[in-house]
Formats: sequence, structure tokens, C-alpha cells
Amino acid sequence: MKAAVWHGKHDVRVDTVPDPILINPRDAIVKITSTAICGSDLHLYDGFVPTMQAGDILGHEFMGEIVEVGQSVRNLKPGDRVVVPFTIACGGCFFCTQSQYSLCENSNPNAGMAEKLWGHSPAGIFGYSHLTGGYAGGQAEYARIPFADVGPIKIDDALDDDKVLFLSDILPTGYMAAENCDIQPGDVVAVWGCGPVGQFAIQSAYLMGADRVIAIDRFPERLQMASDWSRAETLNYEQVDIGEALKEMTAGRGPDACIDAVGMEAHGNGLLAAYDRVKQMMGMETDRPMVLREVMRHCRNGGTISVPGVYGGLIDKVPMGSVMNRALTLKTGQTHVQRYLQPLLERIRQGDFDPERVITHRVPLGDASDAYRMFRDKQDACVKVVLKPWLH
Ligand SMILES: [Zn+2]
Ligand SMILES: [Zn+2]
Repeated sequence: MKAAVWHGKHDVRVDTVPDPILINPRDAIVKITSTAICGSDLHLYDGFVPTMQAGDILGHEFMGEIVEVGQSVRNLKPGDRVVVPFTIACGGCFFCTQSQYSLCENSNPNAGMAEKLWGHSPAGIFGYSHLTGGYAGGQAEYARIPFADVGPIKIDDALDDDKVLFLSDILPTGYMAAENCDIQPGDVVAVWGCGPVGQFAIQSAYLMGADRVIAIDRFPERLQMASDWSRAETLNYEQVDIGEALKEMTAGRGPDACIDAVGMEAHGNGLLAAYDRVKQMMGMETDRPMVLREVMRHCRNGGTISVPGVYGGLIDKVPMGSVMNRALTLKTGQTHVQRYLQPLLERIRQGDFDPERVITHRVPLGDASDAYRMFRDKQDACVKVVLKPWLH
């Protein structure tokens, strides 16, 4: 089959690789009809996630048609259309039984590797380095789905791929980011990053009762999307001082909740931004926490910080004094996708979300290499790329 394969920093190629086969009785094989490139794939592309190996198949946002199931999978059969959550979860362990699927204890075969870096291991993730299992990803014609009886959600009706594909990650991720803010009626929420997760976080915050949402970015097309589509007030951090602007907009108090939908490759201005760039380039710091520092500084006293943005390892110059002395709450985590599949599918059906609108580019899988470059460089006002494996 054809697959988008990581060969090194800034080197993604579409290779011919062996088809996946069933390994365990709870596996299924899915023929992929749509798959997306995620902002967090760019951290792999830019070489900032450790334990990637040349030959790894990328992709954790995908859906398709079941073509084969293992003998223990009784809820799916060949021909079923499914969306696959990016987090792999067994459904029966301590965490899964509490709906904390991204912390599954049984889905990361390389847990020992993750424990060395992070102390404990989270769940396995498709196409996201050997730290999270070394699973082949879904930017391919086919993929093997472990624990297929627990994860994938069946799409029975005629809803287009492009309407439901993002149940795999970015829609639940934006939703959980807002949920983690514990929004009260009348709250002001600020969202750093107007990529797809940021857009869904803004929309979710309004659905949960936020009075105002303020969106922060530097790309005009993303700010435009945040104001026109997601109904946020917008700030361009290259044009205004974000701290001053937020104070002005909130009677000097600061937003009730702040969402970091940017993560480890944040851009910024000034001395600390330059400091992070140099340290990251020298391998002395894995992440550039510009946005994390800002949410910690600008959130109101007693407010909540929610971090859906991906971080990989170690950071420094983090204003912990601000968090402690001002009684901030910090919430984060890989998304417990399985928990949100059914409720968010319902919301898509009801029209509360129209995730398709975030897609700016649809291209054949064969163009994955160019698509990565375009997305990374934000060329052609690219916000979200969907790859179609069977389009030529
Ligand atoms: Zn993703
Ligand atoms: Zn589990």
C-alpha cells in the first residue's frame, strides 16, 4: 500500500510499504477514505518529538471502511464506516473504566520508554513516535486498529467524511479544552492559537456559556476565521501588547480562563522567544513555551489554564510563582477521544458544529510531501489539509 512515511526532519515521502495485517483478536483493518494532517504532526515534521524512526508511517486523524476484523471484534463487520480515535484504549483498565482513555494502561507497548522521560506512560497513539507505541499511522491506504471493539465509532448515515473526520481528534480536543475551563455563565475565555483546535475551542466555549471569547494569533486568515466563523473577538499579537489588551477588555482583571492551543513550537517576540529558539536548536530545551508563559501571566487571579497544545518534554523560565501566588488551576492532557465521540456526533447532526468548514485543502495522499511543507509554512492560507488516499 501507499503511506506517508517519516524519513527525518522535513522529509516525508509517500512510499510503498507492506499492507497491515491482523495481529491480535481485537484488531481490525480499515481501508482509509479520508485522513488529515494535524498541527501536532508538524512537531514530528520539524523533528522536535524524540523517538521517531525513519520508516514510521504518519497520521492519527483518519476514517474509512472496515475490511477485516479479528475474531473478538463483534460490534464491527466488513463494510462498516468508522471514524478512529487517535488515542488507542483497551476499554477495561483502571483509566479506561473512568473514561480517561488517553491514559489507558494497556495500549502503549513502549511504556518503559515513556516512563523514562515522563515518569509514567500515557496511552498509545497512532503515528506519533515510539514513545507512544510506535503504531503505524493512518496517512495511508490501510491501517491496523488495535482494540477495534472499543475505539472506532460507526457512522451509519450519509454524513460525508469531511463532516465527521475530525471526531478523530481536533473536534473533541477543542471541546475538551473548553470543558477543562469549567466555564461559568458570563465568563470571558481567551484562546491562544486560531488553528483548527483553537476554532473548535472557541465554538465549544460559547456552547458552554462563555459570554465573550477572545482569540489570539498572527495569521490574518486564521483571525478572520475566528471572528467570522467562530464569533470571537480577535487580537493580533504582532500588532498589540496582548497583556495590555486583555486587561483593557476585562476591566483590568484578565480572562477567567485561558487556553493554550499552540503548544511546543510557539512563536513570539522579544528576548525570551529568542532564548527559547536558541535553546531548542541546541537541544537544551525540547519545547518553546512562549504561549504557556503568557497564559500563566495573563489569566485572572483564581482562573483556569487549559492546555490542549502538545508539549514533549522539558521547558524553562516558566512563571510558577504566578500560578501559585495567584491560585491558578492548570488542566491539560491528551484528549479522551472515545468519551466524546457519540455526544459530538450528535452535535454535528444537530448543526452545533460544522467541522468541514475548517478544511482549506483536499489533496491526494500522493501529494503528502508537498502538503506537509505547505501546511508547515502556512502557504496558501492553509489551515487544515485532508488527504484522500484513493484520489489520484
Ligand atoms: Zn491531531
Ligand atoms: Zn485501557
